[in-house]
Amino acid sequence: MSNKGITPRSEEYSQWFLDIIDRAELAENSPVRGSMVIKPYGYAIWENIQKELDRRIKEKGAKNAYFPLFIPKSFLSKEADHVKGFAKECAIVTHYRLRETADGKGVEVDPEAKLEEELIVRPTSETIMYDTFSRWIKSWRDLPLKINQWANIVRWEKRTRPFLRTAEFLWQEGHTVHETHEESLKEVMEALNMYKDFASEVLALETLIGKKSNSEKFAGALDTYGVEAMMQDGKSLQFGTSHDLGQNFAKVFNIQFTDREGKLKYPWQTSWGVSTRMMGALVMSHSDDKGLIVPPKIAPIKVVIVPIYKDDNKEKVLKYSRGIYNQLIKDVDNVEFDDREFLSPGYKFNEWEKKGVPVRIEIGPKDMEAGQVVIVRRDTSEKSNIYVSEVNENVQKLLEDIQENLLSRSKDLLISNTYSVSDYKEFKDVISSKKGFVHAHWCGDPECEEKIKEETKATTRCQTEEGKKNTSKCIYCEKPGEEWVFGISY
Ligand SMILES: [Zn+2]
Repeated sequence: MSNKGITPRSEEYSQWFLDIIDRAELAENSPVRGSMVIKPYGYAIWENIQKELDRRIKEKGAKNAYFPLFIPKSFLSKEADHVKGFAKECAIVTHYRLRETADGKGVEVDPEAKLEEELIVRPTSETIMYDTFSRWIKSWRDLPLKINQWANIVRWEKRTRPFLRTAEFLWQEGHTVHETHEESLKEVMEALNMYKDFASEVLALETLIGKKSNSEKFAGALDTYGVEAMMQDGKSLQFGTSHDLGQNFAKVFNIQFTDREGKLKYPWQTSWGVSTRMMGALVMSHSDDKGLIVPPKIAPIKVVIVPIYKDDNKEKVLKYSRGIYNQLIKDVDNVEFDDREFLSPGYKFNEWEKKGVPVRIEIGPKDMEAGQVVIVRRDTSEKSNIYVSEVNENVQKLLEDIQENLLSRSKDLLISNTYSVSDYKEFKDVISSKKGFVHAHWCGDPECEEKIKEETKATTRCQTEEGKKNTSKCIYCEKPGEEWVFGISY
């Protein structure tokens, strides 16, 4: 464990984020730029996220499958917008063998081993999946088809940051095929709401959902809907997306089905995904200057028990503490008993604080004499003395309280950093001084959107249901517009 401190948020927010990832032992950089090693503690959090989300995805009727990492280059080129959108960040496999160099000291690419068709390392799986779907789908009886895949994805990003933007990342991608547009649109919204509920109920994150503008939508989609979360610095983070793919991909991959009247038709498709980016959102939303704070529902360790003793009372304190551990694990899972001999209690407290363990139980000789323990909650640092007989009930209640408190903090942050402006001057003032979510009117012209971005760095984040109905003049050109949410995004 690193003994180094953590840069305070107020001093340098981006360094604070990197420090938390390092000190909480979530991930580290690898020799390949933009690729990270997810360490056991970070991966345990990801596994808990995965487990709960996987349950919700299956509840929606999707089945898990696995498709290949390599995609023939010709597949990617079939949908014109799709290839344009991903061309700049594709990793391409051109050869399949190395040979010894002439001097026998090393290896080099064997020019003889050139692939006939170059392969793309998947930046997303629409094309490879839909080629397969064209063979799976024949009749309306094969629909709806709902497939989900958990996989790694490669997008050759130049400016990378752990979890938020990496060249390789982990995600789930759901892909569904339907008879009608009405049905596929319903799926798009269901997936979007599933992500919003998951964010709030499990990750304790308040989010905003809505439609993305054309410039922000997925390459090849008719429409993209996004889930936007707000970080502590007021910037927004796109947490997940759900796409209405229309019939664009069905037409180029020739997915056709015989409908109920016997006519041959193109189906309607959706895709939706969230990634290890969620880990970045988690770190940035809940952590403080002491370290990470993990919401109890996904905490690999929910409670840690740290016995405090000297040589002359060691045996007694350990026995007493172990008794409490055995009592607690009857009602609470993921309890850790930290009896590591070579570390001081102070060092242990510090370590568990950095790792964001929701509840810490300290047990010293005085607590033992009083038949008590000290319980410390990570989110508020509040300490209380609790009788042994009340420990289980108290801890269970506390875990619920912490989960709720983190969500209510996230709600407060979002509400108190949301602004409505009526003209461009006000817009620029708010964006430059406060960031946050700024509700403003925009005419829908990509030129105004681009100018606003150039001049303020703010982009359209999404348009909520209510925003669509709220009309007024565009803050930039003053033509009629609808209300959009703007923000500075990660
Ligand atoms: Zn305009």
